Amino acid sequence: MDHHKIELYSVDIMIMLIDDQAIVGKLIQNMLTDQSDISFHYCHNPLLAIQETRSIQPTVILLDLIMPELSGMQLLKKIRETPSTQDIPVIMLSIEDDPATKVQAFEYGANDYLVKLPDKIELIARLRYHSKAYIHKLQRDRIFEALQKTQAELEKQNIELLHLSQLDSMTEIANRRYFDQCILIELKRALRNRRAMSVIMLDIDHFKTYNDTYGHLQGDDCIQRIVAITKQQKHRPADLLARYGGEEFVLLLPETELAGAVKIAEAIRAAIEAEQIPHRGSLTADYVTVSLGVTGGLPCADDTPEKWLQHADEMLYKAKQSGRNQVQFIALPSDDETE
Ligand code: GH3
Ligand code: MG
Ligand code: MG
Repeated sequence: MDHHKIELYSVDIMIMLIDDQAIVGKLIQNMLTDQSDISFHYCHNPLLAIQETRSIQPTVILLDLIMPELSGMQLLKKIRETPSTQDIPVIMLSIEDDPATKVQAFEYGANDYLVKLPDKIELIARLRYHSKAYIHKLQRDRIFEALQKTQAELEKQNIELLHLSQLDSMTEIANRRYFDQCILIELKRALRNRRAMSVIMLDIDHFKTYNDTYGHLQGDDCIQRIVAITKQQKHRPADLLARYGGEEFVLLLPETELAGAVKIAEAIRAAIEAEQIPHRGSLTADYVTVSLGVTGGLPCADDTPEKWLQHADEMLYKAKQSGRNQVQFIALPSDDETE
């Protein structure tokens, strides 16, 4: 996992003065020379101000109101419209203490207003106050961004973990644990909605001899081919194919009557037979075959997944006993069921 370290800024205070009069630049710089944690940058040309602001990254801007090339108000508007500068605090500097001008400056987004030349102590106090507020805002943004990233990553990992815990790694279909959860849910749903459901169990015939003949690795390949063929025969998104044991699979078919499930089982059997995967050790055919047991119908209130699986398994056993490469089925509730 990629841990996001939240690196907090230890940003020094960086003042940028934008003023066309070099003497003002000199005077303010002099006021700040004994402040070791305050850096100062002077920009004399308002036309270069946005560009310099971007590269200097000041924590507060001192902005002269009256400049020949571009007025302080217009520049303030530009600063507020430019994404990379819009949050930087701006203190307007003016020679006049006119209330109407002040109101307009605040409307344009100024954070403060000082009359030139301000008292040193007051100037430093205000520069510090606005810079610290801005630095804290940057830190909060940084933390928030890191948190969001971590949260998004956690969510992604949870989904991946969930996915992994549900899948059989070799065949990449559902595993037995996931199937056991699903059949319980589907059984309850079928009961509630009074809808039929069906279960098909499938087992490869004479698979032990297949391994003995061709080796375990080719055995694995064969299992994967059987899975691929079986997958093609299930058509509804709600149908769930799972690996139930080594070479044994189960197909859960919600909203499916027994007759429909038997058709699907027969289609799977036929498709695997048609694939003609050579199996010279088989006593049933000279290619790979499967046996299938099916059960289906309307569930009863006291039905359990175990009961359904047991019926499907009994039919699978019957298919094996009756010569393999075939489908056997029983309706649920079955007539012989009297427990
Ligand atoms: P039947 O027709 O009665 O089902 O005979 P079978 O030989 O298939 O039955 P059995 O249950 O005796 O043997 C199943 C074999 O499947 C035994 C085991 O070695 C093999 N097997 C189970 N899982 C895997 C697997 O993941 N890979 C491989 N290659 N073989 C497996
Ligand atoms: Mg078998
Ligand atoms: Mg088996």
